[in-house]
Amino acid sequence: KGGAGFGGAGFTANMVRSVMADEAFKIEMFRFVDVLPVLDDASEVARHIDEYFNRAGGPAMPGWMRAGAKLAGAGFAKGLLAAQIERNVVAMARQFIAGESGAAALPRLTVMRANGFCASVDLLGEKTLGHAEAAVYRDRYLEVLESLAADAASWPDSCAEQASWGTVPKVNISVKLSALDPHFDPLDRAGLLRQADRLLVPILQRAQQLGAFVNIDMEDDAAREASFWLFSELACRPEFAAWDGLGIVIQAYLVDSFADLQKLRAVAQRRGAPITVRLVKGAYWDAEVIHSQQQGWPIPVYCDKADTDANFERLTHYLIEHRAELRPAIASHNARSIAVAMAAVEAGSAPPGDIEFQMLYGMAEGLMAAVRQRGFRVRIYTPVGEMLPGMAYLVRRLLENTSNEGWLVAAQEGRSAAELMVRPEELGGDAARPARTQGQTSGFSNEPLRNYNHHASQQRWEAALAQLRQSLPLPVTPILSGAAVAGEGVRWERHNPSDTHEVIAAVEGASSTQLETAIGAASDAFPAWSERPVSQRAELLISLAAELRRRRDQLTALICLEVGKPLPDADADVAEAIDFCTYYAHQALRLQAGTALQPELPGEANQLRYHGRGVAAIIAPWNFPLAILTGMTAAAVVVGNTVIMKPAEQACAVAAALMEAMIAAGFPSGVIQLLPGTGEVIGAALVRHPQIALVAFTGSKEVGLAIQAAAAKVVPGQRQLRRVICEMGGKNAILVDDDADLDEAVSGVVQSAFGFAGQKCSACSRVIVLAKIYDAFCARLKDAIEALSVGRAEEPGHHLGPVVDEAAQAKVQYYREIAVQEGELLAQATVPSGGHFAVPTAIGGVLAEHRLGRQEVFGPLLAVMRAKDLNEALKIANSSEFALTGGFYSRSPARIDTVRARFEVGNLYINRSCTGALVERHPFGGFRMSGAGPKAGGSDYLLAFVDARHTSENTMRRGFAPTVG
Ligand code: NAD
Repeated sequence: KGGAGFGGAGFTANMVRSVMADEAFKIEMFRFVDVLPVLDDASEVARHIDEYFNRAGGPAMPGWMRAGAKLAGAGFAKGLLAAQIERNVVAMARQFIAGESGAAALPRLTVMRANGFCASVDLLGEKTLGHAEAAVYRDRYLEVLESLAADAASWPDSCAEQASWGTVPKVNISVKLSALDPHFDPLDRAGLLRQADRLLVPILQRAQQLGAFVNIDMEDDAAREASFWLFSELACRPEFAAWDGLGIVIQAYLVDSFADLQKLRAVAQRRGAPITVRLVKGAYWDAEVIHSQQQGWPIPVYCDKADTDANFERLTHYLIEHRAELRPAIASHNARSIAVAMAAVEAGSAPPGDIEFQMLYGMAEGLMAAVRQRGFRVRIYTPVGEMLPGMAYLVRRLLENTSNEGWLVAAQEGRSAAELMVRPEELGGDAARPARTQGQTSGFSNEPLRNYNHHASQQRWEAALAQLRQSLPLPVTPILSGAAVAGEGVRWERHNPSDTHEVIAAVEGASSTQLETAIGAASDAFPAWSERPVSQRAELLISLAAELRRRRDQLTALICLEVGKPLPDADADVAEAIDFCTYYAHQALRLQAGTALQPELPGEANQLRYHGRGVAAIIAPWNFPLAILTGMTAAAVVVGNTVIMKPAEQACAVAAALMEAMIAAGFPSGVIQLLPGTGEVIGAALVRHPQIALVAFTGSKEVGLAIQAAAAKVVPGQRQLRRVICEMGGKNAILVDDDADLDEAVSGVVQSAFGFAGQKCSACSRVIVLAKIYDAFCARLKDAIEALSVGRAEEPGHHLGPVVDEAAQAKVQYYREIAVQEGELLAQATVPSGGHFAVPTAIGGVLAEHRLGRQEVFGPLLAVMRAKDLNEALKIANSSEFALTGGFYSRSPARIDTVRARFEVGNLYINRSCTGALVERHPFGGFRMSGAGPKAGGSDYLLAFVDARHTSENTMRRGFAPTVG
C-alpha cells in the first residue's frame, strides 16, 4: 500500500490517469512539463498549452483540461490559468524534490529522520557545459557536506546504525560524474583523471575527513565503462584505499551488469576495503534503447522487464553472499525484489544492519515504512535543487510512476499478492539472455560507428596508428590502369597539420601527358564496363565496402594524420564511405529494374533505361577525404561510367589507400584511375577535356563556379554536353528560440560549430538567438567554448584538432581580426603551437551585413547574432547566398512548423546538431550557391550520373497484340 500518492482528484491525479490512458497525451504532457519552467509570462504558458493540447492532429484533450484550456484564449483568464498550472506543476515537483537548496530541504530531512529514515542527498542541476559550471557543482557539494556534517550531531541514532563492521556514516551524498566534468570523454582516460583531481577528489577528501559517505551515481551506458575505470583508479589510490565510505551504482537492466559487479568485487579485493553497491534497475531505459537503435549497436539493456527483474535477484544474491567486500544497498520499489533480498539476508544469517534498502524521495511511502518496521535501514535518495534544472528528473519520475510495466502501478491497480509476488522466471525472465543485436534487414542499413566508449576499440585503433607511423611518409603516385607509375608532374610533401614536422605523404603529381593516358584508358574501358550487368558492378561495390571495413582502423588513423580529423569524426568518415558503396549498389539495382511507364496499354511496350555517360572526372575536397571521394566515385561507376579520381592536394594519401582497396576489391584496370595533382592544373584540365562526359565536384563556391563555367564551354573534339554535379559551401545558421532547452542548444551549437574545427560543410557558422534569451545563451556558450581543448587530432580528449593547412589557419585569423572589429569578442579557447591550430572563437553582435555574417570561413569561427523575434531570425538566416544546412532549437510545435516551412536550406535539423548526415536517412546537399546536384546519399542521386534512353515498341501484328498484365 501507499504508492506515489497519486490517488484521488486534483491536477496530479487527473494528469496521471490521462497519461496512463493515452500515450500521445503522455508525450505532450511531459513535453509541456519540461518546457514550463522557462515560460516567463502567462501568455507564453497559454500559447504552449494551446500548441501542445489544442492542435489539429494532436492528442485528444481530456475533459478536465478542456475547460481550462478554452479559457486560455481569453485575456484575463489566461493569467489565472497559467498561474494555476504553474502552481500545480510546482506542487508535483515538490513531491519528488525535497527543496531548492540544502537549507530549504532541511525541514523535510528532519521529518524524515524523525520517522527513522536516512537520506542520501543528490544535487540536481543543469547539464554541465563548462568549467565554471562544474566548479559551481563542486562548491555546492562541498557546501552540502559541510552543512549536513555540522547538523549531524543532533540527528537521532537511527541515522548512525550499527552494522557488524561498525557505525554507518550519518552523512551520505550522491554525486554525478557528469556534473563535475563538462566533457566526460571515455576516450580520454588521462583527462578523466585530471578533471577528477580538480573537482571530485576534493569532495572525496572532505567527505573522508568528515566521516561522510559518497556514492557515485551512474547515468547512461556510454559513460559506464569509463566511470567504473575512474572509480577503481580513485578507490585504489593510497589515500582512499582503506576508506569504506565509497560506493557506486550497478544498474540491473544492463546485460553486462553481472560482469561489472564481479569486476567491482575484484577492485574491493585489490584495495583491501569494501565498496558499497547501490543496486538499481536503471532509469534511462528508453534513452538507451533509442540511442543504441539509432547507432546500430547491440542494445545494452534487457528488452524484457522480466529479464531485468530476474537479473536484479541474481545480483542481490551475489551482493549478499559477498557482503564483506560489496556492501549491499538494494534500491527498489518492487516489493518482490525487496522480499527476495530480505529472504537472502535471513538465509545467509546476515545481521539486518549489514544491508540497507534505498527508495526515492516522494515514492512508495507505505513500502518504506513496512521495510523499516522489519528492522532494516531505509535510505531515501533525496534530490535537492531548483525547479528549472529539476524538470528532467521530474519527468523521469513521472515516466516511472506511469509505466505500465512498473510494480507500483500494478500494486495500485489492485492486483493480487500472488500476481505481484510472482517469480520473474515464471514470466519468462532470464538474466542470462545476451544483448539483443540489431536485426539484419534485407535492404540497406547504415554502417554502425565504432563504439569508442569501449576501451578495447580505442586500443585497437591506437595500435593501427602506431603501425601506420612506422611506414611514413607514404609514397603517392598516379595509378593508371591499375598500376602505380612515377608521377611526372609537380611533387610535394604533405605534413601532419597537428605537427608540421611529421611528413605523412610524399606525393608525385601527374603530368598533362599522364592525364591524357588516364583519360584514354578510361575511355577504352568504358564500353565493356557500361555493358556489364549492373548486378556485377554493384557486387564490386559491395566488395569494396568489405575491403574498407577490413582496413577501417588503418584508414581512420590515416585520415586523422593527413587532414587532422579527430578519431570519432574520422571513423564516421570511413563508415560513410562504406554506406555510399552499399547504398548506391542497392540503388543501382533498383534503377536498373527500369521504370514501367503508365499507362500500360495493349499494343505498345514502353521502357525507360539508364546508361552510363562515359568518363567521369571526380574532383573531391579534403574535408571528408574518404567519404566524398568514395561516394562520388561509387555513384559514377555503379551506373556504368569509368572514372578519373582527382583528390584534393591535402588528402592524396587517403585517396591512394582508397585506390588500393578498389584494386583489392577487383575493379578491372582502366575503370578507375587516380590522378594526384593540383586543382589549378590537373583539375582544370580534366574539366575542359573533350572526352570528359561528367564532372562530379564537391568543394568551395569559387572553384565550383569556375568549373560550371569551364564545363559549359564546348571544345573541339567534344561529342556530348558535359554534366556538372556540383556541391559547394555553406554559411549555415542555427536558430535558437526563446523557449529552447539551453542545455541542448548550447551543446548542439558548440558541437556543430567546432566539431572538426568547423571544417564540415554542414558546420554551423552563425547562431541566431532570440533577444529574450540572448544573454543567457551567450553566458553559457562562453563557458562551454572556454572549456574546449584544442590539440593534436590523434590525441584523445581534444575537442578540436588543427585546421587543414597554413592557408586555412591564416584565413581564420584574417576573418577573426575583421570580426572582432565588426562585432565583439564573446569567447575563445586557447591553442597550442606546433601545428595549424586556429583559435575557436565566438563573436557576438554580428549583423547580417557583416563579413562574418555572410562569407564562408571554414574554420572554428562562430558569429552570434541577435534577432528580436522568429520572423527576424528567419530573415537573417535566409539572407545568405548559401542554402546548405540549418538548425532550430525550440519547444514550440507551432514555431517548429513555421521554421520547417520557411527556413530555406537543403538539410534542416530540429533540436539536434546540424552536422552528421547519414546516407539514406538524411540525403544531403544544398541549393542556391551551395549546390546544383541532387542529394548525395539519396534516392535521386544516381540519376545525375546517367543518360536516360526510352524505347517504345509497337507490339501489334496483324491486329493481334499480347495482353497487358
Ligand atoms: P576546394 O574548392 O579548394 O577544392 C576542391 C577540389 O577542387 C580539390 O580537389 C581541388 O584540387 C580542386 N580544384 C581546385 N581548383 C580547381 C580548378 N580550378 N579546377 C578544377 N578543380 C579544382 O575545396 P576544399 O578546400 O577542398 O573543400 C572545402 C570546401 O568544400 C568548402 O567550401 C566546403 O563547404 C565544401 N564542401 C561542400 C560539401 C557539400 O556537400 N556541399 C561537402 C564537403 C565540402
